[in-house]
Formats: sequence, C-alpha cells, structure tokens
Amino acid sequence: MGANKILEVMNYSYYYDQICAVRELSFHVNEGEVVTLIGSNGAGKTTTLRSISGLIRGGGRGGIKYMGKNIENLPPHRISSMGIAQCLEGRQVFPHLSVKENLQMGAFTRTDKKGISDDFDYVYNLFPRLLEREGQMAGTLSGGEQQMLAVGRALMQKPKILMMDEPSLGLAPIVINEIFQTIKKIKDDGMTILLVEQNAKKALAIANRAYVLETGNIVLSGDAKELLNNESIK
Ligand code: ATP
Repeated sequence: MGANKILEVMNYSYYYDQICAVRELSFHVNEGEVVTLIGSNGAGKTTTLRSISGLIRGGGRGGIKYMGKNIENLPPHRISSMGIAQCLEGRQVFPHLSVKENLQMGAFTRTDKKGISDDFDYVYNLFPRLLEREGQMAGTLSGGEQQMLAVGRALMQKPKILMMDEPSLGLAPIVINEIFQTIKKIKDDGMTILLVEQNAKKALAIANRAYVLETGNIVLSGDAKELLNNESIK
C-alpha cells in the first residue's frame, strides 16, 4: 500500500446557516486504502462527502486537498472529472433509463472506447445481475440492484477514489452482505475508497482505517481492526 495521500481534509467545518454540521474535521485517505467514516444519524457524514464532491458550497471553511490540489471551491463536474466519484445516499439512479444506459452515463465524459468497454466487462463481472438486467429500466430494479447499479455507474467513471454514502442503507441483511463482499473485491482490485456508514461492524471489517464522527466531530480514529474491538463502538 502506498503512503501517498489522495485526499486530505484539513480543519474543515460546514455551516448550514448558523448550524454547524461538521466541526474542524481533519482526516486523509492514502492511495489504495479503504477508509471509513462511521457515525449515527446526523453525525455529519453526508455533509462531509458532499463537501468533498462539491455538491454543497458556501457554508464550508477549511481545506480539502485532492492529489495535492485545493478543491474546496471547485464545482462538482470539475471534481468528478479529476477522478473523484461518489455514489449518493439513496442511490439516485436514472429511473427511466435502462441499466446499460445508466452505466453509459457514468462514462459520459470518457473518450477511450476500449477502456469503457473493458470497464463494462469489469462491472458486469462484479455484478452479473446487472448484465442479466441490462435492458431493464433502472426504476424497476430492487433496492439492492439499484445500489449495485449506483456503484457500477461510479466505477464507469474510472475514478481514482470512490466515495460511497451508506451503501447498506435500507437493504436486507443478505443483500448488505453481498454489497460488502463486492466492496471488498473492488478494494482488492486496487481501488481507493472512502466509505461512509452507520453499519460500523460491516464497514470496519473491510476498511484499513476509520474515523468515528459524533455530532460533527471526530471522536475516535485508528486502525479498523482495532476499532472493531473497541468497547465504545460496540
Ligand atoms: P444520516 O446518517 O442520517 O444521513 P449524516 O451523518 O449523513 O446523517 P448529515 O446529513 O451530514 O448527517 O447532517 C449533519 C447535520 O446537519 C444534521 O444535524 C442535519 O440536520 C444538518 N443538516 C443537513 N442538511 C441540512 C440542510 N440542508 N439545512 C440545515 N441543516 C442540515
């Protein structure tokens, strides 16, 4: 594993009007790592991810660096074209487009035909169910299948870092296991991942390192396997 920092958040706070959602967060993600940000409802996980991807602006203070460049003022399309992909909470696939069209949307800004075709193969290999349902409208997929599609679409961007917002949200335990097995596989294939989760146990089991968020503050951080045995997390 390289020790190159891909992403670095430095003393970052976000205010919705007067309300501080996250306070002076500092954390980083190294190349090849899975880092998880865990915390309960309202801890500030989504605010953090949306700040990085540029979906919210204006209320932010502090620094966000990607591959050494400040990105805290850039618009979302610039940030995604630099290699940061995000699977949003609640999945957000295009319901009236087919599975295949949704995946094509992920590769929208790419021009490397061969690479795109290889990545289709990669995604369909990860999620054979998506290949079976290639022509089906995304809105008619099950919750788990939509989550798979959201991950697949993000991978079609060929990102350098994949950010996932609560991929287990609202899914049945058996589907959650399937999703986490796939995240593990994507990790083993070399992808750098920032994973936001309420499901601490599952997230810690596949992560290298973790940060625990509580009402907008990082209260604990460290090696994921050690945190898995931490009494306060249990
Ligand atoms: P969850 O797991 O429930 O999605 P979270 O950890 O992702 O929670 P955030 O969605 O980041 O938490 O919310 C952090 C805090 O900011 C919460 O107190 C929330 O009410 C507040 N907040 C989020 N969005 C807004 C908004 N648009 N306007 C005002 N307050 C907001």
